This record gives sequence, structure tokens and C-alpha cells, in this order.
Amino acid sequence: MIDLRSDTVTKPTKAMREAMFHAEVGDDVYKEDPTVTRLEQMAAEKLGKESALFVTSGTQGNQIAVLTHCLPGNEVLLEKDSHIFYYEGGAISAFAGVQTRTISGNKGAMEPSEVQSAIRGDDIHEPETGLICLENTHNRAGGAIVSVENMRQIYEVAQKANVPVHLDGARLFNAAVAKGCAITEFTKYTSSVQICLSKGLGAPIGSIIAGDQTFIEKARKWRKRLGGGLRQVGTIAAPGIIALSDMVDRLAMDHELAKKLANGIRNISGFEVVNDVDTNIVLIDVKGKQLTSAKVIDQLKKRGILAVSFGPTVIRLTTHYDVKNEEIDQTLAVFNQL
Ligand SMILES: *Cc1c(COP(=O)(O)O)cnc(C)c1O
Repeated sequence: MIDLRSDTVTKPTKAMREAMFHAEVGDDVYKEDPTVTRLEQMAAEKLGKESALFVTSGTQGNQIAVLTHCLPGNEVLLEKDSHIFYYEGGAISAFAGVQTRTISGNKGAMEPSEVQSAIRGDDIHEPETGLICLENTHNRAGGAIVSVENMRQIYEVAQKANVPVHLDGARLFNAAVAKGCAITEFTKYTSSVQICLSKGLGAPIGSIIAGDQTFIEKARKWRKRLGGGLRQVGTIAAPGIIALSDMVDRLAMDHELAKKLANGIRNISGFEVVNDVDTNIVLIDVKGKQLTSAKVIDQLKKRGILAVSFGPTVIRLTTHYDVKNEEIDQTLAVFNQL
């Protein structure tokens, strides 16, 4: 099978499995796991933040960030197709007791002036704006890169209003590699950030949240409350260290393969690539073939290719570490037969 459903499907590399085997461990709830501590220090440094925390998943990281920044009854501003709003089961309302206020973005980027006018004032009728959430790269916008300039402007608006900014940077390393800049260019315009180790970076489990020391201390308590305080977890932090040190630069190859795939698809009539393919995600509208996404996914699967639905006529294909150049050729050959 050529598995293009997500970059989450990557299997740990040999080096990761060996690192897991040899990892030095301790009880991380007592902060005694040297491997976790090393991963957190390394992540904080790379992300340009004072401190970092290893969490079980991207969703848990985002939830801890919202719980740490907000009080019940606060309002959170976020993009209408953002992962936190669209794909986290309404968790920020269920757990943090906040209400959401969505803004429509352009290729994942919210207009700073719209964010500004959505921030609440002093009127006692209104909720307090507790947090602004950004997403980069933006998943539902097809791995679109939100520009540093857009983030800077929103951060400025937020600072004036004394509202923190959380970045869901599940695939932020993809944005930095594609732009050829340091990841800190993006993170400097945030109060906190979440990055996934288990997507394009290939680790089997885990995410990092980073921010200032006070934020991470409070976040650590929320992680414990949510049952995310783990014990000899150096065994799974060890591959995270390899993810951050060895797996970042190679994301460029995933982006190249996504571009190759998109260029091939553009030459096949009836299929339309609907995103800019900034990074490793290709969104294809199949309505020109008079087909639904479900039907195309079914036909692809019968021919050995896995994809996911992104709407009634749109499918998503994602490149990653376990996808080879020849497999993109094979995928294009299959699309030509459909
Ligand atoms: C995958 C993803 C998450 C959630 O990560 P999990 O580890 O699957 O919980 C959050 N935000 C974005 C943008 C994602 O793509």
C-alpha cells in the first residue's frame, strides 16, 4: 500500500528504535527522566522559548495551552477551519469551558484587522477574549504557510489588547523548511506553541508545547490533571530527540514529492489541485470526474493507494518519510487510469 493518508503514518526509523532501547530513564512526574529533560531543553532552545513540555499528542498540547491561558467563560478567537475548532471534538469548550469565535481566513491566514475588531471591550455584557489561536502550516488550507508578517501583525494587535497568542504549529517545521528560515522567525510572534514530533518528523508518539517558564509550570499541572503525567517516558522521548536533530531538513524532500504529485495531477483532466502546495499536502477536487471523494478513495484503495476525504468532492494526499519517489510515479499512473 502507498499510504498518503497522513504524515502521522510514518514508522519510527532504525535509529529511533535503537535510541528507545538504549534510553536512560527515570520517573518523569518527579522530573527525573534525563531523556525527557534533554528533549524538552533541546525543543525550548530550537523554538526560542524559555521552557518546553513533552505531551502525548498535538491535541493534548493544544488543550493544555487553552486550559493554561484561559478561564471558563473566556472567548477564544480562531480560524474557522482550524484544527482546534474543527478536529478536536469541541474539547476546548468541554474542558476549558471557553466559547469560540471563528474568523474566516484566506489560505489559513486571518486578517489582522478582523482579529482586532473581534477582540472584546469592557462592556459587562461581553465575554473576555482569553486567547487567539493561530495554525501554521494550516491543515485544512492544504498545508498552507501563514506568513511571518501576518503573524507579526496579529501578535502586535494581541499585545496591545493584552491577549496571549497560541500557535498550533503541528507542522511548523514544514513551514520553516519550505521558507528556508529559522523556526524562531515564526515562534517569536507567539506566547506559546505546539509542535508535533509524530508527523513529518517521524517519531512514533508525542508533541512539544513551549512558552515562558510560568506558562510551562502551569501547563505541567494541567498535563497531570489530564492524566498526561507519565513515568519512564524517556523510552518515547528518545525518538523525539532524533526527530528534532535529524529529521527536520529532510522535510524538503516531502515538499518536492508533493509538488511532483500536484504537477502530475494538474495534467490529468477531471482532477483539480485546489491548494498552492506550499508544503507536503495536496488537495484534489474530483468533481470534474463526476465522482465523489468517497468513490475516488474507494477506487484508489483497490489499486493500492490510501487517501482521506476533505469534503464531498475533495481528497487529501500527504507526502512523508515513508513515501518514495517511485511511489509518486505509481500514484500518478493510477490517477491516469481512474
Ligand atoms: C495533527 C494535528 C493536530 C493534532 O495532533 P495529534 O497528535 O493528532 O493529536 C493539531 N493541529 C494540527 C494543525 C494538526 O495537523
